[in-house]
Parts: sequence; structure tokens; C-alpha cells
Amino acid sequence: MEENLTEYSLYVYWIFYLNLFMNDHQNLDNPIKFKPDYTWPEEGTERDCPRCEIPLQLNENRKDYYGKPWWCGPCQWQFSEDDFS
Ligand SMILES: [Zn+2]
Repeated sequence: MEENLTEYSLYVYWIFYLNLFMNDHQNLDNPIKFKPDYTWPEEGTERDCPRCEIPLQLNENRKDYYGKPWWCGPCQWQFSEDDFS
């Protein structure tokens, strides 16, 4: 019985350290994450969706946002300035 308990504790520790390692690994990945260099439209710029021709939503150019500037809710699609040229 005592032996099983030790084995179980080792197993629990192993899972714990595995999770710890995975978390560290994920944190290391974040700073390397590539932020695409999209041309960002000036605030107040308005564009219509090329697909459904309704006004697009202009996203905020935040450091932690990796998507394109324009967003269309109805077709769930992102657009950059390059997509209009
Ligand atoms: Zn659309």
C-alpha cells in the first residue's frame, strides 16, 4: 500500500512538472510571435466590404493584435489596405 502511494505521488509530481514545462515553453514562444506589417488606415477612415458592401469595422492597431485592420462581421473576414488595391 505504501509503495503504491509513492508511485502515485511520483506520477502527480511528473504531471505537475510537465505542465510547468509546457507553460514555460508557451511563454517563451510569445515574444517571437510575428506581427505582420500591415498599412494601418488613419482613424476615421471608412471603407465598405468588397463582398457585402456594408461599412467595415476598423480595428485598433494594438501591439497584441495580429490581425488585419478591417473587419467585416457578416462575412467574418479581415481585410488589409492591400486587399482594396
Ligand atoms: Zn462583408
